[in-house]
Amino acid sequence: TDTIHIIGGGLAGSEAAWQLAEAGLKVRISEMRGGGDSTPAHDSDQLAEMVCSNSFRSDDADNNAVGLLHQEMRRLGSLIMRCADATRVPAGSALAVDRDSFAARVTAALDAHPNVTVVRERVDALPDHPCIIATGPLTGSALAEAIAAETGKDALAFFDAIAPIVHGDSIDMSVAWKAARWGKGGDDYINCPLTREQYEAFVAALNDGEKTEFKEWEKDTPYFEGCMPVEVMAERGPLTLRFGPLKGVGLDDPRTGRWPYACVQLRQDNASGTLWNMVGFQTKLKHAEQVRIFRTIPGLENAEFARLGGIHRNSFIRSPDLLDRQLRLKRRPNVRFAGQITGCEGYVESASIGLMAARFTAAEARGETLAPPPNTTALGALLGHITGDANAETFQPMNVNFGLMPPLPERFRKADRKKAYTDRARAAFADWVAETGQQACAVAA
Ligand code: FAD
Repeated sequence: TDTIHIIGGGLAGSEAAWQLAEAGLKVRISEMRGGGDSTPAHDSDQLAEMVCSNSFRSDDADNNAVGLLHQEMRRLGSLIMRCADATRVPAGSALAVDRDSFAARVTAALDAHPNVTVVRERVDALPDHPCIIATGPLTGSALAEAIAAETGKDALAFFDAIAPIVHGDSIDMSVAWKAARWGKGGDDYINCPLTREQYEAFVAALNDGEKTEFKEWEKDTPYFEGCMPVEVMAERGPLTLRFGPLKGVGLDDPRTGRWPYACVQLRQDNASGTLWNMVGFQTKLKHAEQVRIFRTIPGLENAEFARLGGIHRNSFIRSPDLLDRQLRLKRRPNVRFAGQITGCEGYVESASIGLMAARFTAAEARGETLAPPPNTTALGALLGHITGDANAETFQPMNVNFGLMPPLPERFRKADRKKAYTDRARAAFADWVAETGQQACAVAA
């Protein structure tokens, strides 16, 4: 069959459908909402419903990675970006939209497209024909089980306990140092030492910090012991963390020659070493509280966070192991994945992976292979992270950010770095568009 089957008409599925249809391929979207099913977070039958905030975040393409991603997507004729621009509401430098008009516009554009058929039905099995699975963080349970059966039991995470990720260049290495416990395994961790007084103040701050509440439908989900929130551990007793993730034993502080009373460890999170994951720091503290409390840790006083911690239900696959660079399931290459189920996080990121899944599929249908954009671009960095650059063992949903790109040469001053990242990205993106002959979609939505 020459029809591409898209499962899930959310942010990713809608963008993928538009891109394929504009490339001249026939598309069938199976969307379970409107067919007697829904998810715990959606409230309408519209395609591309935004389930929570109405913001696509920063639209600043010069200084912000998500703003840069907007720009790259517009360049490729993104339906999501075009409908967002058309339904924009005032929000300073952010791109916020009227969510109902936005979803209505996306739905109308796809309903009207001669190459697209939208079918309101749930899919419970992995198809044998060419398809893109874009069923999102709240994938229907039968399909989720089918995916888990195909990819291995631990390959699909249902419950997401996220630890914060810190930009390595914001850690004060005159206080922190690199080493592994007992000197084993080289310099794999960055260690931030705490004195007894600092540790006790830190535990008190965790206990007093403001937490977010579980949503009603999340309450029944138990913590796995391995992803207990740091503040829940702190509540269990004053020494629980010191005998848990904040152990100081086996870590010789080069400045004192001794083990610290307690120690926070950060583990390298990407291949280039620009991002560091706070070990054991999954948390339900409110975002502002995380920044305030975690910056009291010695060495992290000026920490910049690539992502803050959180805990919520989320189905995503261990993409760095399971998918090839073209977003195909290695074991079943007729199946592509797109959107948040691949382990990106957020509306824009999800739509952007839908866009790329469609462009890879369209090239394949022409008998060609489209080279992914270079990892100096926003699209390429996010895609690269998902399809192999991230550590598969600790893989967690990720927003686009500059830490996913190769580091800049040292000579850029801090104040100029964001612009330097986006300038480098624009040049690389323009080259990729030219070399691969990418067209922006022609028809206005
Ligand atoms: P979705 O947009 O969820 O689309 C998936 C679609 O697949 C849905 O329409 C669903 O009905 C359908 N589907 C599922 N299973 C099946 C099946 N078996 N058969 C057929 N159809 C199926 N991101 C932000 O940027 N900002 C936020 O504020 C924000 N808040 C969030 C709050 C919550 C509670 C949740 C769960 C997520 C939030 N996100 C937020 C993440 C955001 O929802 C996703 O990044 C984005 O919607 C993912 O796009 P997607 O296309 O991958 O999935």
